[in-house]
Amino acid sequence: MELKLDGIGKRYGKHRALQNVSLIFHPGIYGLIGPNGAGKSTMMNIIAGILKQTEGKVLLDGQEAGKLGKRYRARLGYLPQAVGFYPNFTAVQFLRYMAQIQEMEGTAVIEQRISELLEMVNLSTHANQKIGGFSGGMKQRLGIAQALLHDPDIVIFDEPTAGLDPMERIRFRNLVTRIAVNKIVILATHIVSDVQNLADELLIMQKGSVICRGTIPECLEIVNGRIYSVHIPESELLTFCEQYRVTQIDAKGEDSVVRIVTDEPPKGAMLLESPNLEDLYLYFFGIQQQNGTSEEL
Ligand code: ADP
Ligand code: MG
Repeated sequence: MELKLDGIGKRYGKHRALQNVSLIFHPGIYGLIGPNGAGKSTMMNIIAGILKQTEGKVLLDGQEAGKLGKRYRARLGYLPQAVGFYPNFTAVQFLRYMAQIQEMEGTAVIEQRISELLEMVNLSTHANQKIGGFSGGMKQRLGIAQALLHDPDIVIFDEPTAGLDPMERIRFRNLVTRIAVNKIVILATHIVSDVQNLADELLIMQKGSVICRGTIPECLEIVNGRIYSVHIPESELLTFCEQYRVTQIDAKGEDSVVRIVTDEPPKGAMLLESPNLEDLYLYFFGIQQQNGTSEEL
């Protein structure tokens, strides 16, 4: 199986949200990271066939997704960044409805699958409760179940951990690992820790372009030799932090150990560190948006 984006561009009026994106996906877990506004959702929507690109093609095994139509959609599962739910449906009713939309067949098969998925996302005990009363995390988990309903070959998750608590995040990671076999799984997120130790490959997006692509170690090469930890006395801490991209501060008595990413290391005592994903993200974007809440939902 091969999913190919060939020179994809997208304009909203004069604004170019995507520029000449060419990528090839094979089965595996892909982490698409970048700050808000980078173009991740636009790309996910185009792959999902919900948004039409201005330029380029989406090809599944050499055939244009648009022309495959239903045959393409049948192989695709999608968790959009903002899921529209029906508050008066129960979880089960919603999944039945989604099964119908996806033209799944066989009542027994569907019921079996629904109960399997509710188990998988830890919603079995809420199966017959109305979605209107669900928390953000519960809705998100139902959205994840919905995306996997028809056991798709290609799974797209857009900001899947939005609204999930730390425990739910761990469960989500385990679920992704479990379901990913022989599938193309694309996970778009602005939170680096969502893809750490999970993605086989990273795609880093900035302003509508993919600026880095490779395995995590390959991408980390970019900042290799640029990460330092420096001892800074309390009195100089503020000034120092204003001058560098700081990825971590450890207070150690009088001094603080400050981890920075920089092309030009400061003079004085310091230690070269091996890079991690947070460092890489900071190197590109200056700031890591830590919040995992659903500010855009
Ligand atoms: P991300 O998912 O990485 O946060 P998006 O794909 O949502 O990024 O947005 C990429 C850019 O396109 C942003 O600058 C955003 O403001 C713009 N954009 C997204 N959707 C629309 C739209 N429907 N109309 C106009 N501009 C849009
Ligand atoms: Mg988005």
